[in-house]
Amino acid sequence: MMRNPAEHIVVDERLLSIRRHLHAYPELGFHERETSAYIADQLRDHGIEASLNPVGSGVLAVIRGCADGHGEGPHIGLRADIDGLPVTEDSGVANASRNAGVMHACGHDIHMTGLLAAAFWLVEHRDRFNGSVTLVFQPAEETGEGAQALVDSGVVDDIDAMIGTHNNPDYAPGQIAVGTEPMMAGCVKFAVTLHAQGTHAGYPHMGTGPFEAMASMILALQTVVSRNETPFHPLVLSVTQVHGGDVWNVIPAKAGFIGTVRYFYPDDGAMARRRFHEIVERTAAAYDIGADIEWNDFAIPLVSDPELARAAMRDVAQYASLEPIKPSMAGEDFCEYAKKTRLLFAFIGSNGTPGHHGLHSPRFVALDDAIEPTAEFYVNAALRVLRELR
Ligand SMILES: [Zn+2]
Ligand SMILES: [Zn+2]
Repeated sequence: MMRNPAEHIVVDERLLSIRRHLHAYPELGFHERETSAYIADQLRDHGIEASLNPVGSGVLAVIRGCADGHGEGPHIGLRADIDGLPVTEDSGVANASRNAGVMHACGHDIHMTGLLAAAFWLVEHRDRFNGSVTLVFQPAEETGEGAQALVDSGVVDDIDAMIGTHNNPDYAPGQIAVGTEPMMAGCVKFAVTLHAQGTHAGYPHMGTGPFEAMASMILALQTVVSRNETPFHPLVLSVTQVHGGDVWNVIPAKAGFIGTVRYFYPDDGAMARRRFHEIVERTAAAYDIGADIEWNDFAIPLVSDPELARAAMRDVAQYASLEPIKPSMAGEDFCEYAKKTRLLFAFIGSNGTPGHHGLHSPRFVALDDAIEPTAEFYVNAALRVLRELR
């Protein structure tokens, strides 16, 4: 493999002020109008033609390389998510959110600023690469809808590989985790509705009720993790909501529960789904009631293409500290792009101080020092992947 020295990116006052602006004005998923306009303006100021996403918010822009004069080559995407969360900021930072009740509590302002910095570098160094780079400023990651909408709109159809990052406060700035293992969990939302006959509470033998079956199911479902899964693979099955009943003297006809399954390996997800259905359906039969199951695969596990990950790992050591992946039980809608293209994803250290607050906390702080490694990962991974795919 050809060895090229890594490119370094300087984060100047102009980039810091972009970050401060984006952090101060967060917007919720699919409502990122001001954010999109601001990003497009920044790109145009640097001679990069930008257009609104076909899904209504977010920005797309293409930078074409011209290393050999012709620029022919692969087509890759660099993705940054741009939405904030419905969280009231309590971080104490000087540029805290000025949009009431909305906060960049997941640090997507770091992703946007890092991708803008990478875009400014790429457009100034078009003679360093062949092929083209589509900048994907993606809306609505937090609701799990943005990547799906872009995939459905065909934006990704002719992209050979997609590169993404997420800042990670469990690592310090300057630390980057990239590798071949799963990074973020597959995530299922399940909902069970139980149908019984319902009856007078004083005459339970005149009908059937849902609660004894529901209690049995919730307890038995814990054996999916404790008795069906190897102890060497992480798996979570949590019931997070139960509902049913209106009055004290009626056994209701209907009740239900909702929850989530998190897993890292496709076989584990399939096993959990099979055992879940067996336990719920057979318990319902044993109690002589009906059960409807909704099983919604909210996100598949996020894992990088092994070939791209190995290539990127070799470069990272030149400009950052390459760290082992600490897998996250949260989901990430970047996995949706795997339906169309190869993926490369990295965790970029964004805090790492003792007692720091996690993603989605009102007190979450991503340090400015995370911008430079984010930009450097986008640029160096892009150059590497463009070369690898030729
Ligand atoms: Zn988030
Ligand atoms: Zn996020």
